[in-house]
Amino acid sequence: MKRHVVIVGAGIIGASIAYHLSVLGMKVTVIDAEGPAAGASGSSDGAVAIATKSPGCLMNLALQSKAYYSELSGSEGPLSDVYHQRSTFLVATNDTEVTFVTEQAESLRQAGASLRALDGAALRNILPELRNNIPLVLEIREEGHALGYDVVQHFLKNCDVTIRRNTKVTALDMPAGSNRCIGVRTPDGVFAADDVVVAAGLGSSRLIPQVDIRAERGQLIITERSKVASSFPGALFFASYLAAKSGLIDQASQTADGPDGAALVIDPLSTGQLLIGSTREPSDDPAHTEFAAVQHILKQAVDYLPALHDLNVIRVFAGIRARTADGLPVVGQVPGCDGLWVATGFAGDGICLAPLVGRELANMMNGNNTFPDFTSLGPARLGAAWSAT
Ligand SMILES: Cc1cc2nc3c(=O)[nH]c(=O)nc-3n(C[C@H](O)[C@H](O)[C@H](O)COP(=O)(O)OP(=O)(O)OC[C@H]3O[C@@H](n4cnc5c(N)ncnc54)[C@H](O)[C@@H]3O)c2cc1C
Repeated sequence: MKRHVVIVGAGIIGASIAYHLSVLGMKVTVIDAEGPAAGASGSSDGAVAIATKSPGCLMNLALQSKAYYSELSGSEGPLSDVYHQRSTFLVATNDTEVTFVTEQAESLRQAGASLRALDGAALRNILPELRNNIPLVLEIREEGHALGYDVVQHFLKNCDVTIRRNTKVTALDMPAGSNRCIGVRTPDGVFAADDVVVAAGLGSSRLIPQVDIRAERGQLIITERSKVASSFPGALFFASYLAAKSGLIDQASQTADGPDGAALVIDPLSTGQLLIGSTREPSDDPAHTEFAAVQHILKQAVDYLPALHDLNVIRVFAGIRARTADGLPVVGQVPGCDGLWVATGFAGDGICLAPLVGRELANMMNGNNTFPDFTSLGPARLGAAWSAT
């Protein structure tokens, strides 16, 4: 009989794990409280970028995942037409940011990224919309973009898995006195399994309370289609975005009239629209966007790219990032509990890392070795006593 795995969560992480387990010949059931891509994976940007990753483990994994996206998006691959290659541009707007971006460039070089610093003339050729007197722009080549919900749909439709929508997992099924997880409980009954993977994003802590997940909202803006947008050669990430991502700026303390340099990202979509973001505030409410925050982001965007002034905004929305205390995802077998695995806490990096994480967690579950970087993501590092609810 085939080994049966139940995956809790049909976001990009659960979908990638499902695809890779199914390729290995396992029977897979994916259970979601709502449906595929109902969480962060359906409300995010889709930058597949090493440029914005913290040096070390995350940067190394992003490099591998980026290469794997290219492989999966070949004409026969499950992600064909979903992943689009383009450059990332890191923009420094003052001397402090030049120092910051120069340090990031050094880390990127050491990690093996292909990059170049642009002088004024090269910059105007590539990005004529950017205002003058920008002291440094770094181009990181061979980066890419994929919409989270597209990746989810393609992984799930290209493999043989059963999907249960509108089914909330309320608890793990652990027989009293046992250290083995044998399935999950839902209002519709128990789903028995040989293994359970919790890939439930923000919902993961409810099932495994030792994984401490904090909610961080991000607000995003979509413009109409325009020539300006389609002329963009890649995504612009301002140094302030890098600083906010790595916790150097406490963005929650910023106001509409706050410090110059929102954590600004301007990302051209394949539709000819621009996605502009983003905020980082402690909130688990994706239903609300705030006028002041949106105004602040747009003001910064127009300040650096005056040509955006005449574009219409057609949509504003928010998504919730699931962040762990140390900012790193948690991926691996739950110590002290046979048959229980976890992959969560991807914060702002899950779209980028999902293909690699899916492949490598499936390998781990199949008893094969994975990259050493995954060892540092294991749940054992959290040091808590493990017991499932
Ligand atoms: C504003 C914003 C911008 C972002 N930009 C980028 C970017 O440019 N690049 C990048 O790499 N990443 C980005 N991210 C991060 C990325 O979106 C996330 O890391 C990724 O989507 C997480 O995927 P996931 O599968 O872990 O979680 P989710 O997509 O949240 O999926 C979890 C699923 O579990 C389900 N679930 C929860 N609890 C239960 C339960 N008890 N029972 C059953 N189902 C349950 C939910 O319904 C949900 O469908 C961004 C995020 C935001 C919010």
